[in-house]
Amino acid sequence: MKKLIKKEKVTDKKFIIIFILIVFSFFHDLIKDSFEKNLDKFDCSRIINLIQENKKNIEIYNNLSTILKNDDTIILENNSSIKNFVLILGESISRNHMSLYNYQHKTTPLLDTLKEEGNLFVFKDVISPHAQTIPSIKKIFSFLSYESENKKAWYEYKNLINIVNKAEYKTFWYSNQESYGKYGNIPAAIASLTNYSFFNATKEALDNDLYNAFLNTFDKNKGEKNFIIFHLMGAHASYGNRYPDNFNFFNKNDYNFKFKSKYNDRVVEYDNAILYNDFVVSNIISLFKDQESIVLYFPDHAEETLDFREFIGHGDANYSKYMLEIPFLIFVSDKLKNSNPNLIKNIKNSLNNPYMTDDVIHTILDILNINTPDFDKTRSIINPNFNKNRKRILIDGKNYDSDLKNNL
Ligand SMILES: [Zn+2]
Repeated sequence: MKKLIKKEKVTDKKFIIIFILIVFSFFHDLIKDSFEKNLDKFDCSRIINLIQENKKNIEIYNNLSTILKNDDTIILENNSSIKNFVLILGESISRNHMSLYNYQHKTTPLLDTLKEEGNLFVFKDVISPHAQTIPSIKKIFSFLSYESENKKAWYEYKNLINIVNKAEYKTFWYSNQESYGKYGNIPAAIASLTNYSFFNATKEALDNDLYNAFLNTFDKNKGEKNFIIFHLMGAHASYGNRYPDNFNFFNKNDYNFKFKSKYNDRVVEYDNAILYNDFVVSNIISLFKDQESIVLYFPDHAEETLDFREFIGHGDANYSKYMLEIPFLIFVSDKLKNSNPNLIKNIKNSLNNPYMTDDVIHTILDILNINTPDFDKTRSIINPNFNKNRKRILIDGKNYDSDLKNNL
């Protein structure tokens, strides 16, 4: 043990913590069973592996962050004038569970109202390129798309944050997700490019914490033009941990389940999480409604919840269309409606366009009126020249429109 620790250059403080952990786990097992039986479970290598993995993760984060910051972004034309561009990146949200998209339970009452008032535009046919977070995020924030997947690494493509920084936006990142580790390294490295970032450190914290974090920090740091990202935990499993008790609203007796399954309760919890997400997203929108602002909301991917088989969750390995069919919403403030009528017209004309969010960087730059060598207006969902015939090819080569859309 001592030898191993020396090799790993573990400091005295860490050694004491590790020692306490070992002693604790040792006695914990002893209580349950005999000493002889548990001797083989006394495994130092597991702890050493943990330390090594942590070290590796920190290295990956540092390397990525350095590569991304080494920036030679070129801007061909910058006619951006919108005061606030807000991107709310959701998590595991299925449009098939939103009343905004005709789901039978009233899970999005606040967004429904914003739509009725004429400030929220609902895109009908948008999918995510993946059924899991990290591969989706790489494509959302860079020019990487399925067509260019194997040409170079995602971080070698120009990325959204470097571009908007160069276009003189003050950039902000408010996150309720991990700031390091297997799932946190890549979003955190992208966030490190922003002028101000906030990661909610509390485990199982609720998304609305970001609303308060914004109130406490934005005014001190804001600029003339601001690009603000909120990265939510949304309706990620475990669903029951995503909302406070007062959002425990839906009742299992009001549901007609397709299966008798041990997961039926999870579906009800999922809908409660969608109801809370409706509250969080509307709350964030309310922060910007009195200024010249545009808010784009969509999640990294959707979620399957007993839709056609006894399965609940998401992941590229076992994906289905239910994990890809996402909401895609644009909120425009009254001030923006007045200052930018042409943009509003283009948005209204594009609500039925088929889209996959590996191209969303083109839409964002189009809205902002920023042109770069990689920008392609035919890949922006709101552009009059949008290419409606672009195939939506998924990770295993299947075509969403011909192979999945109208099937299970
Ligand atoms: Zn995700």
